Amino acid sequence: MADQINKGRRRFLKTTALGAAAVPFTGLMLQQQVARADLPRLSEDDDIARSLDYKHDATQVEHRRYQEGQICGNCALWRGGDDEWGVCQIIPGKLVAREGWCNAWVQG
Ligand code: SF4
Repeated sequence: MADQINKGRRRFLKTTALGAAAVPFTGLMLQQQVARADLPRLSEDDDIARSLDYKHDATQVEHRRYQEGQICGNCALWRGGDDEWGVCQIIPGKLVAREGWCNAWVQG
């Protein structure tokens, strides 16, 4: 009987600790999503986009460095998770398209 109570107590403490640890993490994720939503989308006509040969649709890219299958969403510099638009580490303050591409693509 005492053994069952101790097991239950241990399970409760583990669950509570995990829940407490998840709260700030979830808050941080929500903050990042809100921050991302506030950013404007990069235009292909922006100077930085032109300098990187950036396109919203990688399938339309005709560039010597481009290889089929490369998209922002699988680039090591992508910080957008599964979103359609996300942050790129080298393009400050603007969102890039998950299906986009630029000549700085890095194997993720
Ligand atoms: S560096 Fe990567 S994520 Fe950023 S625009 Fe280029 S391909 Fe997309």
